[in-house]
Amino acid sequence: MEYQKLRDRMVENQLIPRGIKDPRVLDAMRRVPRHIFAGGHNLANAYDDMALPIGEGQTISQPYMVAIMTELLELKGTEKVLEIGTGSGYQGAVLGELAKDVYTIERIASLSDRAAAEYRTLGSDNIHVRTGDGTVGWPEEAPFDRIIITAASPQIPEPLMEQLAVNGILVIPVGSRYSQQLLKITKTANGFTEQYHTPCVFVPLIGKYGWEEE
Ligand code: SAM
Repeated sequence: MEYQKLRDRMVENQLIPRGIKDPRVLDAMRRVPRHIFAGGHNLANAYDDMALPIGEGQTISQPYMVAIMTELLELKGTEKVLEIGTGSGYQGAVLGELAKDVYTIERIASLSDRAAAEYRTLGSDNIHVRTGDGTVGWPEEAPFDRIIITAASPQIPEPLMEQLAVNGILVIPVGSRYSQQLLKITKTANGFTEQYHTPCVFVPLIGKYGWEEE
């Protein structure tokens, strides 16, 4: 299969027509091998317009959702980014192309181990993986210029607001367990500004400052 062709088509058919404009985001998504992160059982449809199962009841997000969340972060290449919800590792790999350093936390060890192994294979040595509850953040590495939460939360976990740098941006799907809206928060010297974006559906963020495990 010609994966480069599938990636180019994904960008042309799924991202540009829906309004993704940042050329750095589009280029990164033309480069990052989504099929490697999606896993062997998803090879045939790794570039389809949908989220896919990655095991443990979790998902790799739809390409458009990865693109819009990344675009909302307004990355220039100098940032230190925290991601909560490593999952397959794909979103982290896209961030790794666009920021200086990425710190990513996953609560399910089999997933974080697999993502860390893919990063080693690909030589993505600016991506740092931790297993644990990401709702408490990564205090030893704070502050972060950008924070992205790729699981659904009832509210913004307080420690993440604290670990966001001034002038930093945080993107999170907030709402109920079953439907959410993307929220972009910008931290200023005087407080926070918020902007709501597209409706979305993510698996739940489970942890001290998220949902309880069912
Ligand atoms: N960013 C991922 C990717 O590119 O494949 C998709 C993430 S998937 C939609 C959400 C992930 O968040 C799941 O792997 C889930 O286990 C993880 N998660 C849920 N609650 C978490 C928490 N408190 N800390 C860290 N990870 C969490």
